Amino acid sequence: MSVFVTGATGYIAQHIVQELLKQNYKVIGSARSQVKCDNLIKNFGYNKNFSMVVVPDISELSAFDEVFQKYGDELKIVLHTASPFHFDVKDVKKELLIPACNGTLGILESIKKYAPDKIERVVVTSSFGAIIDFTKLDDKSFTFDETLWNPDTWESCQSNPVSGYCASKKFAEQAAWDFWKQNKDVVKFKLSTVNPVHVFGPQVFDSDIKETMNCSCEVINSILKGGPDIPVNPNSRNQFIDVRDIARAHLLAFQRENTIGKRLVLSCGDFNQQDIINVLNTDFPSLRGKVPAGNPENGILGTHTGAIVDCSKTKEILGFEFIDFKKTVDDTVEQVLRAHGEF
Ligand code: NDP
Repeated sequence: MSVFVTGATGYIAQHIVQELLKQNYKVIGSARSQVKCDNLIKNFGYNKNFSMVVVPDISELSAFDEVFQKYGDELKIVLHTASPFHFDVKDVKKELLIPACNGTLGILESIKKYAPDKIERVVVTSSFGAIIDFTKLDDKSFTFDETLWNPDTWESCQSNPVSGYCASKKFAEQAAWDFWKQNKDVVKFKLSTVNPVHVFGPQVFDSDIKETMNCSCEVINSILKGGPDIPVNPNSRNQFIDVRDIARAHLLAFQRENTIGKRLVLSCGDFNQQDIINVLNTDFPSLRGKVPAGNPENGILGTHTGAIVDCSKTKEILGFEFIDFKKTVDDTVEQVLRAHGEF
């Protein structure tokens, strides 16, 4: 039985591939170019269970047709992680909304056309962005959970790249649920989504440590490379989850029955920039004086200074403890320092 992982070169997807290979699945990944495919195959040590296909641009609704024409008979599981995640965007519609939505709808249409009775489970990597309501973030009496949807519209979300990204995840996820409901009699697969908050943790391979990292890890990396005088923003509240937990969640999402039809929301609590800085200064003596000290008391770890993200239902379904903030930051930073020859 083979698992198809879209966007296999991505930060999260590489962890998913690693976990799948550990559990002896055959994995076919997709990437935008042959060079990226070859590089990942090499990084995974030419594992005999791992191969790659080129899918150049998921904005094309037919992008995945060839994959299912060719491999439809051997694939049983599809994990759709590919989606643009960056904020360096001029045209929100073209660069975020269309690839996110067409990528999701396109892969489901390809399954329907070429492997409706073969694919058993589909997991779409959505996001807490599909749930977030920016107007409620500071409201301590408000609770976000898997029943809620980001209220931004196709038009309103185009005001800035952050809103555009979050809404791209909402529209893509909604397209998946709508497709599934409308095609339940035509396709065999069952659908689940994974909706992570901000994801930290090491890259699978040290060689992926670059000057600028993937969007979510850049939040830590930018502090590491910013010098001691960068301003510390105590209002930079966000929620975190470790990438290794997200990978585990993707596997359990298709391995278990109790995940069918579920949105799995993963968060391990609130943090702000000061909390990252506190871990850097406490756990990495060599960084003291090279990164800001800020005011250690301004950290918010373990407290609720705004709306709550309730992922108790997901925790019950998944049944494992999430990796804590100290470990996720420690492991991220250790790898960056190691790659730079400083650890
Ligand atoms: P990455 O940027 O590392 O991975 C994104 C992947 O999608 C890459 O493989 C990228 O290809 C591919 N991709 C992006 N746009 C296109 C396109 N137009 N055509 C084909 N492929 C494309 O980000 P993450 O690993 O962090 O994100 C993976 C998924 O997780 C995304 O769906 C993201 O929205 C979601 N997510 C991430 C969170 C986080 O904090 N990291 C939080 C919540 C959700 P290439 O390598 O060629 O650019």
